[in-house]
Amino acid sequence: MLINKNSYIEAIPSNQNDQRIQSFITEIENFENSDLSAKVNSLNNKNIYHYTQQEDVELGLFLQYKGEYILRLYGWSDNENGDIFYNSAIMIIHKMEVPVWETSKTHQFIDIQVTKSNGEKLLNALSKYEFKCKIIILDLPQTIFETFPSSQQQQQQQQEELSVITDNDNNEISTNAEIFFKAYRDLDSIYAWYDLLVDTYPDILNVEYIGNTFEGRPMKALRLSVHSESKTNSIKTVVITSGIHAREWVSISSSCFILYQLLSDYENGNLAVKRYLEHLDFFFMPVMNPDGYEFTWKSERLWRKNRQQTFNPRCSGIDIDHSFGFQFTSGFESPCSDDYSGESEFEALESYNWDRYLNETKHDHPIYAYIDLHSYAEEVLYPYAYSCDVLPRDEENLLELAYGLSQAIRLKSGKYYEIVKACEDKGADLLPSMGAGSALDYMYHNKAYWAFVLKLRDSGTHGFLLPSKYIVPVGKEIYAAVKYFAAFLLSDKY
Ligand SMILES: [Zn+2]
Repeated sequence: MLINKNSYIEAIPSNQNDQRIQSFITEIENFENSDLSAKVNSLNNKNIYHYTQQEDVELGLFLQYKGEYILRLYGWSDNENGDIFYNSAIMIIHKMEVPVWETSKTHQFIDIQVTKSNGEKLLNALSKYEFKCKIIILDLPQTIFETFPSSQQQQQQQQEELSVITDNDNNEISTNAEIFFKAYRDLDSIYAWYDLLVDTYPDILNVEYIGNTFEGRPMKALRLSVHSESKTNSIKTVVITSGIHAREWVSISSSCFILYQLLSDYENGNLAVKRYLEHLDFFFMPVMNPDGYEFTWKSERLWRKNRQQTFNPRCSGIDIDHSFGFQFTSGFESPCSDDYSGESEFEALESYNWDRYLNETKHDHPIYAYIDLHSYAEEVLYPYAYSCDVLPRDEENLLELAYGLSQAIRLKSGKYYEIVKACEDKGADLLPSMGAGSALDYMYHNKAYWAFVLKLRDSGTHGFLLPSKYIVPVGKEIYAAVKYFAAFLLSDKY
């Protein structure tokens, strides 16, 4: 169903009797009036620092989110009325330009970043519908603060790096990995870690330079191949990318984790992994958006796009995942929007560099399969993203594989990743441009026979701010899916 968003310009009377609005306001007021020292103490009792206690970080990094809350709309009915609510809510949120974290029709939630005032307005606008709502993150600055490594973890990491660099011992890297995956890592640490891995596995791992970003940072990828250079043009490549959206940190830690597991399982003589690597090459691009990622560490934790200049000097950044040259739609959003696609295809330097690199190397390294890691919602998405009216080729097998990936995850961790058509997930059935120019469609159409997006954890209450204790569990479940994928590609049928 297509909805013209302008048709939602309507005056909405305030509904003072709506219980949902009342509890929304009361919860925020109670929080704002609560005593800071009590809050600090209760955190300290759990061995967690409060962000105001941290000495060596820029407080503004957290304080800028004061007065903002993550509100979840959920619990609408599973019928036509529910659909009407869902579509209307999306359109009104869009029109009010309230930042959207995630929408999931299958898990039934819409998470948005609101202030007290626009949250109240929005709930007012929706008050004629049946649904529930709750604030899932009340203390946004503190929740953001807790996703950064503690200063103790940072020191530990630096010491470990030094010890590995000085003696370059194979045993050290595994110790290092245990430390490395304890916390999220910034770009410098991740790039330093690439070099350590290549030092440790020089015969099978290479760092490849893809190009430079707008702010001049190198885009680096890693090629894992146990084959001699002369043979690689007959070997199928599996490509795994992540971090195209800067704030989705767990996607980056997960692709690093998968790479690390493949390397150590291969080294330890794991028979299945040996077989995968004898028949497949793996190509990892863990930080697809280095400028944006760096920006989430230094300036705005919840930044999504790259950092490129646009025609509007007040608003920078292109959503790389709308910038690819397949079914591209130019500038359907304003440059200030999180979904801004740019004025022309491949305007985002990251998508341009990626396309050029793949074209230059495609004869030596034919791509066969693609996984793009995002967060969050726990979903497996399959093509196409741009339209629900177009059937993907080989849909039956694509679906079978999607179910297999989901099952591999469930067997590993018990988490249930829903299988969703990417167009539905993106809302392309509602606003066609929302699914335009995606990396998924571009890779599926031009490069990879099999292509998926995995949206990682959680579907609970952390969203983009998944605590670092989940880095390894998420890494493990996605590694299980990648191994399933590899086994599928090697099976006789395909
Ligand atoms: Zn994403």
